[in-house]
Amino acid sequence: MICLRLKELERIVHGKAAAGVNGEITIRGVSIDSRTIREGNLFIPLTRIKDGHDYAREAIRNGAAAMLWQSDHPDPPTDVPVIAVEDCLAALQTLAGDYRSRLPVKVVGITGSNGKTTTKDMIDSILSVSYKVHKTKGNLNSQIGLPLTLLDITPDTEYAVIEMGMSERGQIERLSKLAKPDIAVITMIGVSHLSSLGSREQIAAAKMEIVLGMKEGGALVYNGGEPLLADAEKAAACRSVRTVRFGTPDSFGYCAKSIRSDASGVSFQVGGNEYRIPLLGKHNVTNALASIAVAAIAGITSEQCRAGLSKLTVTGMRMEISRSSAGYTVINDAWNASPVSVQAAIETFAELEGYSNKFLVLGDMRELGPEERAYHKEIGRLVDPGTIQYVFTIGELAREIALEAAGRFPTGNVKAFEHKDQIIGELRAVIAPTDAVLIKGSRGLELEHIAFGLM
Ligand code: ATP
Ligand code: MG
Repeated sequence: MICLRLKELERIVHGKAAAGVNGEITIRGVSIDSRTIREGNLFIPLTRIKDGHDYAREAIRNGAAAMLWQSDHPDPPTDVPVIAVEDCLAALQTLAGDYRSRLPVKVVGITGSNGKTTTKDMIDSILSVSYKVHKTKGNLNSQIGLPLTLLDITPDTEYAVIEMGMSERGQIERLSKLAKPDIAVITMIGVSHLSSLGSREQIAAAKMEIVLGMKEGGALVYNGGEPLLADAEKAAACRSVRTVRFGTPDSFGYCAKSIRSDASGVSFQVGGNEYRIPLLGKHNVTNALASIAVAAIAGITSEQCRAGLSKLTVTGMRMEISRSSAGYTVINDAWNASPVSVQAAIETFAELEGYSNKFLVLGDMRELGPEERAYHKEIGRLVDPGTIQYVFTIGELAREIALEAAGRFPTGNVKAFEHKDQIIGELRAVIAPTDAVLIKGSRGLELEHIAFGLM
């Protein structure tokens, strides 16, 4: 984590220390949360949903060694060293970018519509076989989370695997310029954030911004099966970055052959080598291909790569499979939902064998813009009573899925609900120990509570 004297901090963030501040004092680590701040940390009060300045006293009580203070806020504390800055978020980002440029670490930056967290976990698992690795915790991929992740890197770290999220144009460029990736990954282009970006072309262009912050001589690993990334080579060449494709059936990229799925994972071959991931779904093979490409760039052998992938544990709520106390299987894929990821989940669930009945619980897919109802109807047309026996929906938009699917299923097997409790009650009444249920919906719906309720 960052360790810095206050006089250096003042210079880096273009701040102004309060009168009498001892510039030789060292801060160790940064926190934006007065509840979890540690002894010696620098407290940075952000003004987002709540105003962090209101929590300065608590931060001091819990060990803050110093704090930044936005100059338009009155009454800075006088009992800890304070450095005034124009904008605390900008200062956090500047500090993180400066720290990263002084670290010898190699950075792998990951963006894409889906699969960022999963690919990050895979790359971490593989690189950790040979290197000291730091990775984004959970999903801390935002304009705040990414700087905090960078500031947490210890100086002996060899690789940092950093997730980059966005909801509008310009954000990935900013994050990439902070993280300065040596290797960048674009997992895929979906339709998430269509409502704010307007078109899939714009979504692809937003992800391509990652190139703008890359180190010269770096490598861009991208999904070669996506026509909207056709310009990747040109964009990369402008930055003297080389490109590596995955997911294309040509001999230049990384592609998977002989894919075999079972209830505990997927096996496949890449370039004559056999791999296995302890995760469900062919979409996770795509994520693994990106990871294998990164591993090769980092000088990891296929043997080490196989070992890394086999001991993979991913962040929860991504096709997380558990057995309930009553015996039935619960697949919690409730982290998020978009048309592409719901389709991938349905395909995976449909192929799972060995269950008497399969129950699909789908919630609204949000932020899809004016065509949102059409996207839900399309999902309704995809579910097949030959492979999935029950479809329960929750939410106004997901009702369209039920309406579209109902005609093809036996009466009563497709139902639209308004509350999570109703779904838990209905499932408990009908599900048998030999059955399985898959749960998926947009983040705002928090459908993991259905999974918890069933466990
Ligand atoms: P977020 O934008 O919420 O941070 P993310 O990009 O980090 O999402 P993950 O958390 O890895 O994505 O996966 C979220 C869901 O997306 C998974 O549960 C799965 O349904 C789907 N998903 C993951 N990888 C892919 C992929 N390569 N293609 C399509 N869908 C995918
Ligand atoms: Mg994520």
